[in-house]
Amino acid sequence: MGQFNIVLIGPPGSGKGTQAARICERHQVPMISTGDILRAAVKAGSPLGKQVQAIIATGGLVSDQMMVDLVAHRLAQDDARDGFVLDGFPRTVVQAEELDRMLDGRPFLAIVLVVPEAELERRLGARRICSQCRTLYTTGTLYGGSEEELCSSCGATLIRRDDDNIQTIRHRLLTYRQTAEPLIEHYQHRSALAVIDGMRSPEDVARGILDEITTNLTGVSRSLQG
Ligand code: AMP
Repeated sequence: MGQFNIVLIGPPGSGKGTQAARICERHQVPMISTGDILRAAVKAGSPLGKQVQAIIATGGLVSDQMMVDLVAHRLAQDDARDGFVLDGFPRTVVQAEELDRMLDGRPFLAIVLVVPEAELERRLGARRICSQCRTLYTTGTLYGGSEEELCSSCGATLIRRDDDNIQTIRHRLLTYRQTAEPLIEHYQHRSALAVIDGMRSPEDVARGILDEITTNLTGVSRSLQG
């Protein structure tokens, strides 16, 4: 594990995936999305996938122990030697405490994206993902949209995530509301927290995040780039 360690916290639809991809491209560290890892396990029909399938479908949380094991294993891989951007982990204080242990005092920044719930429902209802390259889109269609849409970067078909339906969306938002506050307080106490207004354009949000990284992880990002 290295010196450029970032976690993105925020409700579903707040732009974590989009922003994580940008940071990773710029700083050459892996983007580790626990939701993506779990969905891949479900798709592959692995033992882990079978255990978590129903939880993801309803929008609840997978157990802390399972998530901590999964992330510890992923962070030990070679591509994470300079650092990482975590998207979707930690989601509970227990997970955050375990991550603190793994970090063992290394530089670290938690970024929280704040977006009102009405906007999150709108974004998630309109969210599409490229079936091949995983690029994220927000289309004009709300909760309907059976017409085929294609990825503008690779041409493959855009799909909806199974859990982007109104019932599961509302449960995921509720889950976030119930767990986020203590998690954010945890990082406030550690003075390793940046709060970003996620209602601005993706470019403006990215600029805000970049400023926070420069302020909080300055020496680190410079040495990685230089
Ligand atoms: P996401 O793609 O981050 O929205 O995650 C999709 C789903 O995966 C969530 O609704 C949870 O069921 C599960 N999940 C992902 N990350 C975690 C985590 N850190 N802790 C518990 N469950 C998680």
